[in-house]
Amino acid sequence: MSLKEYVRDIQDFPKKGILFKDITPLLMSPEATNECLQILIENLKNKRIDKVIGVESRGFFFATLLAHELQAGFVPVRKAGKLPFDTVSASYTLEYGTDTLEIHADAIQKGDKVLIHDDVLATGGTIKAVCELVEKLGGEIVQVNFLMELTFLNGGDKIAGYERFAALQY
Ligand code: 5GP
Repeated sequence: MSLKEYVRDIQDFPKKGILFKDITPLLMSPEATNECLQILIENLKNKRIDKVIGVESRGFFFATLLAHELQAGFVPVRKAGKLPFDTVSASYTLEYGTDTLEIHADAIQKGDKVLIHDDVLATGGTIKAVCELVEKLGGEIVQVNFLMELTFLNGGDKIAGYERFAALQY
């Protein structure tokens, strides 16, 4: 089976008009999960990574696997109010209103080589805010990677200055 066959399309989720890419079938298959992980790792060959950032919540799954594989630290970025220690925050605009993401203030040291991971790149608003957080703390973004990029939404334009990789493209 090809990797794309493990991604399920859900019409009108979380609201009408959105075709949601559901990665839970992929996560249920150890073979597909490993194939995906190896594709992401292959693309990081010879790159030093100190910290892997996972974006709440679907970014956590592969970010922890990547961190383990790369022998790097794992750092969660979460929605406002979820992290217990001192935080730094960044906001981004949604269709209606704004959302805020946070990172622990001590999660990244100046000069740390950072990999940022999320499951899906859609419009790019989320990942741009995450890049801001990492740079506020002095981290150096080595690559931003995803399980999949929805290329028709042009989210890549928002993070044009960074190296970007996605295991799957739609
Ligand atoms: P963006 O900010 O790029 O528009 O949206 C990306 C964020 O929304 C990611 O954190 C991702 O988890 C979530 N997201 C947006 N569309 C989808 C989708 O079709 N499938 C999944 N699994 N997540 C999505």
